[in-house]
Amino acid sequence: MMPSAAEKDYLVIVQCHLVKERCSGFHCEKAFHDRSGGFTNYSAQQPLRLLTMTCGGCCGRSLQRKLINLLHLSHKREQMDRSRIMVHLSTCITKASHHGPVCPHLDYLKELISRLNLDIARDTWISKTAEKRRQQGLYPSDPP
Ligand code: SF4
Ligand code: SF4
Repeated sequence: MMPSAAEKDYLVIVQCHLVKERCSGFHCEKAFHDRSGGFTNYSAQQPLRLLTMTCGGCCGRSLQRKLINLLHLSHKREQMDRSRIMVHLSTCITKASHHGPVCPHLDYLKELISRLNLDIARDTWISKTAEKRRQQGLYPSDPP
């Protein structure tokens, strides 16, 4: 069963470490602000906190340590339950674009997040241009 967006109030965007070497993350934040792309399930009235982090670089293993740190501190300081958190994998991880193909470690990243019993959502910003190019077959196809 898909986790309910209405039950979440703390979103974590995980971004590709390599892509973030040249990206500020502006479009991820804009999609969150506008509740577009991967954030359409959240209402504009829903109070949401947002944290961004990168996977830490291939193969993404340090993501586990970062998320454990978040779980530890959020529980210690705010008694936050992990069920309130949703982890969004940024579109530069989940879809092919001019930044590159889909992350070759996507399944591994999902496994790391799932092992911590955190819910996962795909995508952040969806570029119209990139969507069109994907449909035209100009980028490698997305995984199922
Ligand atoms: S999805 Fe776009 S804005 Fe977000 S980190 Fe990736 S390249 Fe940057
Ligand atoms: S593991 Fe994937 S998301 Fe992380 S840096 Fe490598 S390609 Fe990017």
